[in-house]
Amino acid sequence: MSDCLFCKIIAKEIPSASVYEDDFVYAFLDIKPVNPGHVLVVPKAHSVNLLDMTEETLVAVARTTQRIAKAVCEAVGTDAFNLEMNNGAVAGQVVPHAHLHIVPRRADDGLTHWPGHPYAEGEGEKVAAKIRGLLL
Ligand code: AMP
Ligand code: ZN
Repeated sequence: MSDCLFCKIIAKEIPSASVYEDDFVYAFLDIKPVNPGHVLVVPKAHSVNLLDMTEETLVAVARTTQRIAKAVCEAVGTDAFNLEMNNGAVAGQVVPHAHLHIVPRRADDGLTHWPGHPYAEGEGEKVAAKIRGLLL
């Protein structure tokens, strides 16, 4: 038996408030929502994060996430939401089974966007060139 929390939820060994299921995806309410309607979209095939998901799974998750996000927004009466994926513990990932957060937003929910810091002179072009090189 898998030790993975989300694999156990997908297998219904641990209960969850499910909102959608198909061959590729299981989606359920986050147990500690940022706002009501906060949903986790989880690929059924175990992968740790975005980088080890198969292309087939990625496409299925993307398509389904759009559908679920529309339903979440309509259900809680908003047209704003954040789509977040934490990849790696340093990025805040606590459960090491890939998942997307759909977080519906309200104007008065008190959340703030992450802070941005401008590049030093020339630094942006250097890092862009490095990334471009790795994508050739
Ligand atoms: P992350 O930090 O991206 O790994 O997010 C993990 C999320 O899983 C957190 O927002 C938790 O509240 C949520 N979570 C943990 N255990 C459960 C559970 N049993 N059912 C639903 N959501 C859970
Ligand atoms: Zn898993």
